[in-house]
Amino acid sequence: MKKWLQLTAVALLCAFVFPYPASAVKIVVDAGHGGYDPGAIGVGGLQEKTVNLDISLKLRDELQRRGYMVAMTREDDRFIALPDRVSFTNGQNADLFVSVHANSYPNASMTGSMVLYYDDDYPQADYPASEAMRALSAVNRAFATQMLQSFLAGTGLGNKGIVPSAVHVVRMGTIPSVLVETAFLSNPAEAALLAIPEKRTSMALAIADGIEAFRPPIFPDLGQHWAQQAVMRLYALGYVQGANNLFYPNQPLTRAELVTMLGRVFAGTPGAVDTAIVPCATAQTPAAGSGVTAAVYGTGGKEPICNVPVFRDLAATHWAYDAMRQAAASGWLQGYPDGTIRPNAPVTREESAVLLDRLLQLAIPASGSAATGKLPFTDVAPTAWSASAIARLAAAGIVQGASNDKFAPQRQVTRAEMSVMLDRYVNAAKDAG
Ligand SMILES: [Zn+2]
Repeated sequence: MKKWLQLTAVALLCAFVFPYPASAVKIVVDAGHGGYDPGAIGVGGLQEKTVNLDISLKLRDELQRRGYMVAMTREDDRFIALPDRVSFTNGQNADLFVSVHANSYPNASMTGSMVLYYDDDYPQADYPASEAMRALSAVNRAFATQMLQSFLAGTGLGNKGIVPSAVHVVRMGTIPSVLVETAFLSNPAEAALLAIPEKRTSMALAIADGIEAFRPPIFPDLGQHWAQQAVMRLYALGYVQGANNLFYPNQPLTRAELVTMLGRVFAGTPGAVDTAIVPCATAQTPAAGSGVTAAVYGTGGKEPICNVPVFRDLAATHWAYDAMRQAAASGWLQGYPDGTIRPNAPVTREESAVLLDRLLQLAIPASGSAATGKLPFTDVAPTAWSASAIARLAAAGIVQGASNDKFAPQRQVTRAEMSVMLDRYVNAAKDAG
């Protein structure tokens, strides 16, 4: 539910396209202690804050590689108060919270791993939990159980169980939260393990396994892809989708995909997709007194359109039939002279720029006048049909060259490239209010 509330306006506009809130899976990783708070001091002087940070940074890298978004409460050696860790987390719109610690106990023979979580079945009167966390008790328990199982499987360490706990960071937040006590710094053997970089790596991977088993990532094929963050932002807004939980970022974008993406991004733009389409029979011969007017279809005064160009090669059963018909009705998509639209054909960078520019001008009419900027690309002739569109988008910072001074207009645009362009537009539009 997280982004739903913030994005009510967007959600209302595209609810008919995308009736459920979607977002990338985001993890907050919290390296325990830091700065003047060293945490436990291990046998041999190893400080807990150092071990926690190293494992957390490795966990961050691994989660990103697997296609998660990650937010870190700290990425260096600094002190952060516990309430600040929670308020940071609450501001992240994240899905899960994992705090990384190492344990300590007066009896040096104590060994093993445990996972702490908040459980309302074991309340502590002096340490009341947030209402949200109380309600998450069962989820926390399931998350802790999975985390412990994965962590033990990945590290071979001893089982100290899951532990209902009132520690601040798992008690006061608003999302499922666990705290992993990796091993005991007070035990000589485990302190030695925690000092070995490879062992820390295996602990980080095991924590990632626990997260993945509990909440698989969306689009794991975007892990470490240069377009990952842009795609994730668009996905969170409901503008892009994948298939089979994969995004296929390097695949050429088809015309049907392009039109669908543009239709979603510009759903709130007057003239973009607000032309009502009605069956011709209804539009031409409304039954007497039936009151079939533009208002019925919510066109905001526009006449319903029935004679949308019907493309010879666009079957009514095509998944993008409605989006493409709508785009054609609204006037920003034309077919080929032979009456086709070739929905499954890849589009070029030039074509995608022209379509994006058309909608940009609808959304921000003033942008049309800024077309005079000199083309920064040597491979786009000033007389080319796409030249002014590319110039405008380049001036707005929405498109960049494929390399140095080349735009590569004839090259097929990939799903990743188009996502980055749209992401730049969405951010620019947001900045412009
Ligand atoms: Zn600690």
